[in-house]
Amino acid sequence: MMSTSRKTRAFAPDPASPGLPCDTPGCEQAGEFRAPKSRTTLRDFHWFCLEHVRAYNAAWDYYKGMAPEEIEGEIRADSSWQRPTWPLGQQGRQAHFDEAAAAELHAFAFGTRPKSPPKQQAPAELHDALGIFGMAWPVTFAAVKAKYKELAKRHHPDANNGSKQSEETLKRINLAYATLRAKLAMPPPQPAAD
Ligand SMILES: [Zn+2]
Repeated sequence: MMSTSRKTRAFAPDPASPGLPCDTPGCEQAGEFRAPKSRTTLRDFHWFCLEHVRAYNAAWDYYKGMAPEEIEGEIRADSSWQRPTWPLGQQGRQAHFDEAAAAELHAFAFGTRPKSPPKQQAPAELHDALGIFGMAWPVTFAAVKAKYKELAKRHHPDANNGSKQSEETLKRINLAYATLRAKLAMPPPQPAAD
């Protein structure tokens, strides 16, 4: 009788493990758990220890549910990352997604994304907007969007007996959102042309 649940089995050491250390730099654990390197190379694996395969899978799941535009937004919004840019367009959207997901997973797995990003100065023109949103820089567009939905709902006059003050607050929230969106949706600076 099978006593292991799917969940347990998903994290059982893989007998096919090449017996090398975890792929995460600096990690001394055995790389006994495999994870595909990207959505396009599902048969090419990283080998991680249990802790790192879990972290890797979490990053994978996080990006999996996003539309390509959202992933692009997240990546473009994060100016601390050196990333290639992807042309926008209908064609090759899946490719953008795969590229973005692969880059993200690689960054996550290999620690190029700082676990707690160093404090960065928010652009001056965003100070007020960030204050209204109660968010600390850096922010991602996805996080701003989620916060906007939450704030707009909470401060909508309809939810506050038609309060005039709510109306004013909502106006400020809308303005702040427009400011943040405009900034975060901006394409990153082009690398110097040859
Ligand atoms: Zn590890």
